Amino acid sequence: MLVVLSKGISLHDKEMIRVYLQDRGFSIREQHFGEDAIIGATGKGTADIRELSLLPGVERVAATSKPYELASRETKPEDTIVTVGPVKIGGSRISIIAGPCAVESREQIMETAAMVRESGAVILRGGAYKPRTSPYAFQGLGMQGLEYMKAAGEAHGMPIVTEVVSPELAVQMQDLTDMFQIGARNMQNFELLKKVGSLGKPVLLKRGPSATIEEWLLSAEYLLASGTKDVVLCERGIRTFETYTRNTLDISAIPVVKDLSHLPVIVDPSHAVGIRAKVSSAGLAAIAAGSDGLTVEVHPRPDEALSDGPQSLYPEQFERLMRDIEALAPVVGKELLRTPRPHQGWGVPRCSGVLEGAAAGSPKGDTAASRMGTGGEQQCPGTGAAGISTGIAFSGESGAYAEQALMRAFGEEAPRLHVDSFGAVFDAVLEGSASAGVIPVENSLAGSIHENYDLFLRYPDIAIVGELKLRIVHCLIACEGAYLDSIRIVRSHPQGFAQCREFLDKHPDWQLEPYNNTATAVASILREDTAGTDLTTIAAIAGDAAARAHGLKVLKTGIETNPLNYTRFVIISRRNGGDKAPVPPSLGSEPPTKASVVFSVPDTPGSLFACLKILSEKGINLSKLESRPIQGQPWRYLFYVDVSIPHTETIFDAVMEELKTKTEDFRFLGAYRASL
Ligand code: PEP
Ligand code: MN
Repeated sequence: MLVVLSKGISLHDKEMIRVYLQDRGFSIREQHFGEDAIIGATGKGTADIRELSLLPGVERVAATSKPYELASRETKPEDTIVTVGPVKIGGSRISIIAGPCAVESREQIMETAAMVRESGAVILRGGAYKPRTSPYAFQGLGMQGLEYMKAAGEAHGMPIVTEVVSPELAVQMQDLTDMFQIGARNMQNFELLKKVGSLGKPVLLKRGPSATIEEWLLSAEYLLASGTKDVVLCERGIRTFETYTRNTLDISAIPVVKDLSHLPVIVDPSHAVGIRAKVSSAGLAAIAAGSDGLTVEVHPRPDEALSDGPQSLYPEQFERLMRDIEALAPVVGKELLRTPRPHQGWGVPRCSGVLEGAAAGSPKGDTAASRMGTGGEQQCPGTGAAGISTGIAFSGESGAYAEQALMRAFGEEAPRLHVDSFGAVFDAVLEGSASAGVIPVENSLAGSIHENYDLFLRYPDIAIVGELKLRIVHCLIACEGAYLDSIRIVRSHPQGFAQCREFLDKHPDWQLEPYNNTATAVASILREDTAGTDLTTIAAIAGDAAARAHGLKVLKTGIETNPLNYTRFVIISRRNGGDKAPVPPSLGSEPPTKASVVFSVPDTPGSLFACLKILSEKGINLSKLESRPIQGQPWRYLFYVDVSIPHTETIFDAVMEELKTKTEDFRFLGAYRASL
């Protein structure tokens, strides 16, 4: 049981709570988590929780049915996000740790760091102290190895994780490593756990080869109870009767542990499988099962490795694995976390040349361009402060898909500004009450969200600075006591209805009520004036995050017509946003690969063809072409075009210049990094 103490509790009240618990047979221990002071009460004691909650100085009491409490999801329902230097693990991101089994030399770790970083790893791994089965095997380079590794991490912009094998070494190593690894063999070395936990650094806790899930979580509890709050669990295979593979990867442990605990769970497919050719498949399976990341052994020349060569990937294999993870991530509703690559040159200049020129448009009296405005300086993604001073705006309430997209792009802790329409998102960004906004523009089943396309015309000072694709899994959500046959009214955004057409067609008697946003539809059920309304007759279509956010239940999940249901969101920012516009961490300072433009063409034969011909001849891929009516000019159209930006900047600049000469009105909406 955990007793969370009120802030500013007096010493007297704290003592009374301690006495109360001790008198009832509990062993107690006070812990501090950030700003919270918590008394953990363990043992066979019994107490009336209601009475305890009413004692002066008690903020709340969390009783759990599990032997571990700090690690339990009952105690903390929301996912813990672990921070290792600039990297986050957990939530909707997939974070990849890679490096050799052991640090063998300064050159080897430098070379490996450069390679894994280039492929997208965000944390560098490597053993300086190697607990080997044989006393005659390579035991690691010790502190010298750790120093090489720290230098490699710094040179390539990656925090490092390394195994610690004794409490004494933990103290010596603490200033050199960003994260401690507790190896499988030491999972139940409780003195080591207590010492490492007390140092407060993030810890990667491997599961012991013969440990049950409960024993593993109890080891995590040791770390948390000793002081650290950043623990990542790592499944690395367990001992079974199977001898073909080094261990047996317990894939089922991933969803089980994610249910039992709020801590992030990652998988080590290298030690689990032990066979290089099978490592990537096991890693992908782990991601599909809900793993928050992987730790993978990679060596520039595995055949020469001093330890675990047979299971170490060649750099090319690791690169391929990363690409496969990137493609798989949206299927499980996640995104591969990438941080900027410090050594990569820009493919195109992002704030110069045609991007600025194009943004200037070509105003021509009372044409569409005058309504579109002349634009301004192109906001440059990747420049400016990553700090977010004001919130990021989205339309809807907690649990909205746009909020999920926002958290994916900016992190769970990004300040958010809820507004109640897409137009209000543009307003908030324009007026500066939000530093950026996230809006949906298109869905793979139901098509474009025209309202937002049209808003770009009304807000010439707003530019697109990023995009993000989110897999949309719709649920039918209702309150406790409701069931499928009790439903009469269903609320959602019209897109929600459109994407669940087949499911809704099976219930022709349901009355559909459109709302501005899916999460608003969910919230509306609770706001219903209960007098005279049977709440069990109302349901909403939204994501399960909306059900969780508003405390309602999911009656049916996966009701979208086709599981390949994705919504493309764009991040918008004010032109001239300069350094104040936030750059989503997931976009980092990567060069833009995609651009959006809008133009109209003269009403003459072949005028649109002439524009497309320019793109085609220069080999520029057109990923989207959409026409929208120009208001006030019946039967005239604006064309919204998405194109890829080739690596050679000069071609792109020239193509845009040429395109402008063939169009009547031309506006550059933004250059950004395409999401897969
Ligand atoms: C390692 O990660 O280098 C290692 C030795 O792993 P484990 O403790 O899982 O065997
Ligand atoms: Mn190893």
